[in-house]
Amino acid sequence: MISVKEALSIITAHVTPAGVESVPLSEAMDRVPAEDVRAAEPSPRFTNSAMDGFAVRWETAVREGSEVKFLLTGESRAGDPFEGVVKPGEAVRISTGAVLPKGTDAVIPIEDAKESGHEIRVGRSVRKFQHVRFKGEEFKAGEIILKRGDVITPAAIGLLASQGITSVAVFRRPSVSIVGTGTELMPLKAPDLKPGQIRDSNSLMLCAAVTRSGAQVVYRKSVGDELDDVERILQQAAGAGQIILFSGGVSVGPHDLVRQAAEACGFETLFWKVRQKPGKPLFFAKKQNKLLFGLPGNPVSSLSCYAYYVHPVLRKMMGAEFEWQIVKAKLSREMKNPGDRAIFVRVAVRRNSPKDSIADPLTKQGSHRLTSMVQADGFILLEPGERLSKGCNVDVYLYPWRA
Ligand code: AMP
Ligand code: MG
Repeated sequence: MISVKEALSIITAHVTPAGVESVPLSEAMDRVPAEDVRAAEPSPRFTNSAMDGFAVRWETAVREGSEVKFLLTGESRAGDPFEGVVKPGEAVRISTGAVLPKGTDAVIPIEDAKESGHEIRVGRSVRKFQHVRFKGEEFKAGEIILKRGDVITPAAIGLLASQGITSVAVFRRPSVSIVGTGTELMPLKAPDLKPGQIRDSNSLMLCAAVTRSGAQVVYRKSVGDELDDVERILQQAAGAGQIILFSGGVSVGPHDLVRQAAEACGFETLFWKVRQKPGKPLFFAKKQNKLLFGLPGNPVSSLSCYAYYVHPVLRKMMGAEFEWQIVKAKLSREMKNPGDRAIFVRVAVRRNSPKDSIADPLTKQGSHRLTSMVQADGFILLEPGERLSKGCNVDVYLYPWRA
């Protein structure tokens, strides 16, 4: 049996990017650019006004102590520039974002001018270039405006759109196959379950988690505990997806056949069993660039292993840097781990104030109890032999769906 750390480093060593594709900008949200994106044009594209007001020649507005008069000779509107050249002593009405007329180098805000007829009077001093946005002051054409690896946000979409960029090269969303194993499993809509039968809830749960991670589910099936069937479904799953998630059938029972089926199908076992709770029977195997995770069947173990091991893999395959979102909190009660397995303690986080959070370990931590997972915001990793006293500061790793 290996440690959590060893399991993680074996998995990490086998992650490869999911390839690159071009997507329309309208579908690029949350995707990760596979290359740096450079500006096609400078920003701003032209020198313009930052305020609604009057464009003037600065030096003609310099008068200590008294008002200055300007003759209003025209207007520069957003999308409709003033065509002439502004002479000393003249002013042109200007809107925010409108082209700064030739001959001007300062904008007097509307609030600082008194307008009467064809004249404006200004009582305040005017600085050269005040309220002027210069062409290219944000960035020049050719500068990098979005880096490879930066997740695309609404702001990034706006920035690329402003450049007339309509498609982006992004890392592919990893394709994932999900298989629920167990002869006891029935479809969700099965009208009457016989004693011993349960619904295959893990498949849909994992499907939701995968979607949340940003990957795409390309195959989903349930299969009974018969070796031939498990092998056949594994072949199909491996044909469809680059990541294959099995739930159940990886423990030590006579009907736990996923490892055997994987080996029969040419997968190489990279590890089986991790010193952790929940999720001890976690199984990891590989065939060419296909990675198979044999997640334990107990729903909590399955989702806990998914969050800690599978989610980071999918994010990295999509080209994103992966870092846990951590909340610093005070533990509401003492926690001890006298055993030799690391414990993923599910906790709810209560925020008393922005700087004062409490981590409440959920009392019923049994690996079949999904209610604890529903209430949990994240987990604390309690190492073997570790004791955490009530009130101590802990790092809560937020689940991907809570971060
Ligand atoms: P296993 O790892 O196959 O021994 O399964 C452990 C426990 O998880 C058993 O109680 C199973 O019935 C349950 N289980 C396995 N697969 C699923 C599933 N897809 N949905 C819900 N429960 C499951
Ligand atoms: Mg089973």
